[in-house]
Amino acid sequence: MSTNDAPSIHIPRELLPNDGRFGCGPSKVRPEGLGELAAVATSYMGTSHRQSTVKKVVGSLRAGMSELFGLPDGWEILLGNGGATCFWDMATFGLIRERSQHLSFGEFSSKFASAVAAAPHLGDPMVIVSDPGTHPVAVPDPSIDVYALTHNETSTGVSMQLRRPAGDGLVVVDATSGAGGLEWDPAEVDVYYFSPQKCFAGDGGLWLAACSPRALARIDEIATSGRWVPASLDLKIAYDNSIQNQTYNTPALATIFLLDRQVQWMLEHGGLSWAAGRSAESARILYGWAQDRAFASPYVTDPAQRSNVVGTVDLEGVDAGIVSKVLRANGILDTEAYRKLGRNQLRIGMFPAIDPSDVASLTACVDFVIAEMS
Ligand SMILES: *Cc1c(COP(=O)(O)O)cnc(C)c1O
Repeated sequence: MSTNDAPSIHIPRELLPNDGRFGCGPSKVRPEGLGELAAVATSYMGTSHRQSTVKKVVGSLRAGMSELFGLPDGWEILLGNGGATCFWDMATFGLIRERSQHLSFGEFSSKFASAVAAAPHLGDPMVIVSDPGTHPVAVPDPSIDVYALTHNETSTGVSMQLRRPAGDGLVVVDATSGAGGLEWDPAEVDVYYFSPQKCFAGDGGLWLAACSPRALARIDEIATSGRWVPASLDLKIAYDNSIQNQTYNTPALATIFLLDRQVQWMLEHGGLSWAAGRSAESARILYGWAQDRAFASPYVTDPAQRSNVVGTVDLEGVDAGIVSKVLRANGILDTEAYRKLGRNQLRIGMFPAIDPSDVASLTACVDFVIAEMS
């Protein structure tokens, strides 16, 4: 049987999760957030982003995010259009002085390294690669002015502890799928950037970056160095707009609203440790289940590198693609492995918006499907 024709297996209703969205981005948006958005359908949506109604929401999300991350004085939350992918180009223009080092351990971390390697104004990046399912460690080097780390490699489900290498290069972290679901220490980081459609349960299209005073100084330094930078990719322009609770060009207002609601939801329940705790509980459920089953095992062998927000589980003796198809036909969505990784695997989003009890229900559904298939 090819993965195109999944057997028709009907999962009993009582086994199903309350919400069937387990994707790793776009990921589950809380229905409550969407309800709140509907409530401002005529007072906020469709109004000017240069007026106070929208600026207040941007201000609220910037302040809320600073509180959530416990940022020291002098840090700023910057934001703009284009997502984390666009931020790689902005960093290539506006953060790297001469030479960067990249820890490359999956699809996303390798893409930033490629963007830098192609830039004619920079030296060749130093790229440290490790096998998929693991992460490499930064190596201090006096020629490096930016260390590019990734908090959570979404393609493989590997997360890393963020540690500042010795020396004075900026530590620039792609936290797209980790931010809001994993804890980190601002003392170890200079730029912590992400998109809203993963732990922050918003929609795509924006990038956000928490920037230390050293990072802001680097942005200023490069802006006055005479380097040519296209305006839409200019971090200095983004910085100047962000501190006025503005973006350089028009943002998606719904995304900003949902992001702010998610940040406030996290703060109301106890902040980052609470949000990260929900993901940690989901991860205990998923990996514990995989270890208990003969047909499943966690893909990441080192428990310390296993992600709490993106779970990857290898299956044996059963086609994972068919399992995902059967789940999809039953309303359980986006459990497919990252395509380019090429593993017989399920990949499960465990972001804070996803209820740990729904992760438990998902495992029961996989048990049911596999029993029916064999
Ligand atoms: C999703 C993701 C990206 C890309 O985000 P976009 O918003 O699509 O640009 C980059 N890095 C990581 C780690 C991701 O998970």
